[in-house]
Amino acid sequence: MEEYIMTIDEGTTSARAVLFNKDSEIIAMCSKEFAQYYPQPGWVEQDPKEIWLTTKEVINKVVADSGIDPKQIKAAGITNQRETVVVYDKNTGEPVYNAIGWADRRTAPYCDELKAAGKEQMFIDKTGLLIDGYFSGTEIKWILDNVPGAREKAEAGELYFSNIDGWIMYKLTEGKCHLTDYSNASRTQLFNIHTLEWDDDMLELFNIPKSMCPTVLPSSGHFCTIERKDFFGGVAVPITGCIGDQQSATFGQCCFEPGMCKMTYGTAGCMLMNIGEKPIPSKNNLLLTIGWGLDGKVEYIYEGTVYNAGSSIQWLRDEMDMIDSTPDSEYYAAKSKLPRGYVYVVPAFSGLGAPWYDSYARATIFGMHRGANKYDVIKAMLDSLGYQTRDIANAMAKDAGAPIKLLRIDGGAANNNIVAQFVADILGADAERPVSVETTAAGAAYLAGLAVGFWKDKEEILACRKIDRLFHPEMPEEEREELYAGWVNCVESLMVWSKKAKQ
Ligand code: ADP
Repeated sequence: MEEYIMTIDEGTTSARAVLFNKDSEIIAMCSKEFAQYYPQPGWVEQDPKEIWLTTKEVINKVVADSGIDPKQIKAAGITNQRETVVVYDKNTGEPVYNAIGWADRRTAPYCDELKAAGKEQMFIDKTGLLIDGYFSGTEIKWILDNVPGAREKAEAGELYFSNIDGWIMYKLTEGKCHLTDYSNASRTQLFNIHTLEWDDDMLELFNIPKSMCPTVLPSSGHFCTIERKDFFGGVAVPITGCIGDQQSATFGQCCFEPGMCKMTYGTAGCMLMNIGEKPIPSKNNLLLTIGWGLDGKVEYIYEGTVYNAGSSIQWLRDEMDMIDSTPDSEYYAAKSKLPRGYVYVVPAFSGLGAPWYDSYARATIFGMHRGANKYDVIKAMLDSLGYQTRDIANAMAKDAGAPIKLLRIDGGAANNNIVAQFVADILGADAERPVSVETTAAGAAYLAGLAVGFWKDKEEILACRKIDRLFHPEMPEEEREELYAGWVNCVESLMVWSKKAKQ
């Protein structure tokens, strides 16, 4: 009887259940969106119960649709949108408030206060993170400070907090466990990434009782067992993998060795580099975070995020009417006759991310002359994905002390050949696109599968990896550096503008 691993993929907008075979091929997948709530400008919430019910539906549907016997599911892994947090009653499982999403900005003023109080270095030293409302700590504090009765209940030891991984495991086991893994814990701002423990000073700073924190386990190993009549007809399925989505994609891209890195070109862009077992803080504005715990070791990651990657191609489609579909951008960009280096677009629609961090910058087109046309703008927009990759790659190479020779790419916009080739050209490094772009789901499946011997070791997983296309750099070095200098000039000019604009 053939066996499978199931990934429960808790995305930001949808929940998915995916079945992998031993060749790491997807044999069935089912996904369903859930609602996002925006109660006030800048607030982003989700309903934890809706996430749970959606998850339940996709898990059961993928089994029904694929026609497999639940006994064939050897184990399950969870991967999840990171940082989004739920606070709930530990006995009843009743959330005291909606889940607050990672994109929620309500705690930005509190973060400004923390920065003004000179706390940034403490955050960097203990958690590897910068002070930002994206992470869970400030959001948990907001719930305790603002939901009537929440703080009293928390202090009486009656509340738990969980990211979506832990929330789903709590629900799957009918409240029997309160768990997370190192990668998710490292995004809460409460976890010391060096001692691998919840940090008393951080908890005190945020005034969060330690009794709310989940137990933290390695990303691959036994978490809990699903044993319910309403799942798998009562067949017991162990959960043996758990990891945050970006780390999961890094593992799914088989970045197993220090120096290996991947970039995901989704709505946003996220680049992660495996730096091995030594957590050396970034000197170049990157996050230092935990990749995964596996085989008795913890491996660390440098991470940089570009706020607008695929979303800027959607902007060309939705707001500018320049293209009918996002894949069309490749066809139209190829019609541009203007050489690179004249028109640049800096797509800072929601500010500039790593390594610049300017939340007041806004998207700007540079260098238009009377003959420039929409094809040139479309090409410049596609190229901006490459330039932004180079910004982060430079910071990573400096921190790692070695240039990047190969970048593994995935996400929707990585399917665009102009983007992929330009990434290789502007980095002066190979860009490798795998056949399966479901790298996030694959990572959690690999970790779950390794724990139960479904895959013997990383080498066996690596042997399943299939490359769609390898993009070699073709651009002469001099041109590459000239183009990149032009980009940096644009970004720096924009940051001069943003300083005045914000006053
Ligand atoms: P997410 O997981 O963030 O929703 P996906 O990995 O599904 O993102 O990728 C979707 C993004 O990729 C969209 O923003 C879309 O604009 C972009 N995209 C998809 N296909 C292409 C393409 N062929 N060329 C350029 N951009 C693309």
